[in-house]
Amino acid sequence: MRTLTGGCACGAVRYETPGDWEFSFQCHCRKCQRATGTGHAPAFAVSRAETRLHGPIKHYEHVADTGARTKTGFCPECGSPIVSSTERFPERIYLLAATLDDPTVFRPQFAVFESEAQPWDTVPPELRG
Ligand SMILES: [Zn+2]
Ligand SMILES: [Zn+2]
Repeated sequence: MRTLTGGCACGAVRYETPGDWEFSFQCHCRKCQRATGTGHAPAFAVSRAETRLHGPIKHYEHVADTGARTKTGFCPECGSPIVSSTERFPERIYLLAATLDDPTVFRPQFAVFESEAQPWDTVPPELRG
């Protein structure tokens, strides 16, 4: 069983989570586009209880396009978004794939909010629902 480790761009925030993700995806919603400055957010779901986050994470709360209250955690030093969570699944957190120390292990299983995808960032056919 592998341990996934990662952190923000400046290294002030670090995490480790045992084992593998529950599932992985890429989110094309407008909130993720704005929060990451890119076309979509590749992320994976892990157990909140089993994940250790270290460092000065700041949380931004907002209402997601689903209507659920959602929190995005970022590093206040470098601004990197790292983690998000939704009140709908409080036992889970979602870590952003590019924060992994070894991002090559990431494979998205499906896409969400495909209807909000930008024309310059199309959803690969194999990830469409
Ligand atoms: Zn940082
Ligand atoms: Zn999103």
